[in-house]
Amino acid sequence: MTFTPPLKDCNFCQRLCAFRAENRQKYQTYHNAPVPSFGDLTAEILIVGLAPGLHGANQTGRPFTNDYAGNILYPALKEHGFAKGNYQKRKDDGFELINVRITNAVRCVPPQNKPLPAEEKNCRAFLSSEITAMPNLKVILCLGAISHKNVLQALNLKQSAAKFTNGAVHRLKEPPYIIIDSYHTSRYNINTGVLSYQMFSETIKKLQGLLK
Ligand code: URA
Repeated sequence: MTFTPPLKDCNFCQRLCAFRAENRQKYQTYHNAPVPSFGDLTAEILIVGLAPGLHGANQTGRPFTNDYAGNILYPALKEHGFAKGNYQKRKDDGFELINVRITNAVRCVPPQNKPLPAEEKNCRAFLSSEITAMPNLKVILCLGAISHKNVLQALNLKQSAAKFTNGAVHRLKEPPYIIIDSYHTSRYNINTGVLSYQMFSETIKKLQGLLK
């Protein structure tokens, strides 16, 4: 199965297109387009975030790159052998993922970091086809409840198939993937103590055990 990502000027979501046009005027050096996934389609692990941050992934063109959430995600991946190189918040920093691919439930930056349910729905076909295009996929790490909800929908599963809980492991029957949940590594969750680096690192360690 081949995966066709959204076009640079994808027009599925009126509100996101208008926001993109505004940002193309305001921030002319930014990526300002759907943010492509990071990592190989041959990976066994897919990490699904929410959406690019305005001055983060939307600027740099790589998921979680220059977003606060990346400051937690990328060091934790490296700590457990899922990345190499120095993460320097730039697309061309040479940082590499190992056996991991990272994408977002919504690929364009939404106003206030909050995609609308209709925008999640419009973008879901990309998530479904990307999952299908990963021949070795075993584990999907959902960052946050919205990611979890969209992953279940992308897999045509009911929400009752798996309840979002930080650190929960859901072994699906069909399709036979394992879903593991984490609270999103957002600045808000870290600053309010909902999630700590240590908690997230433990989830990545648990994920590692799932591949054995
Ligand atoms: N940046 C991303 O690319 N995704 C998120 O979910 C958050 C920040």
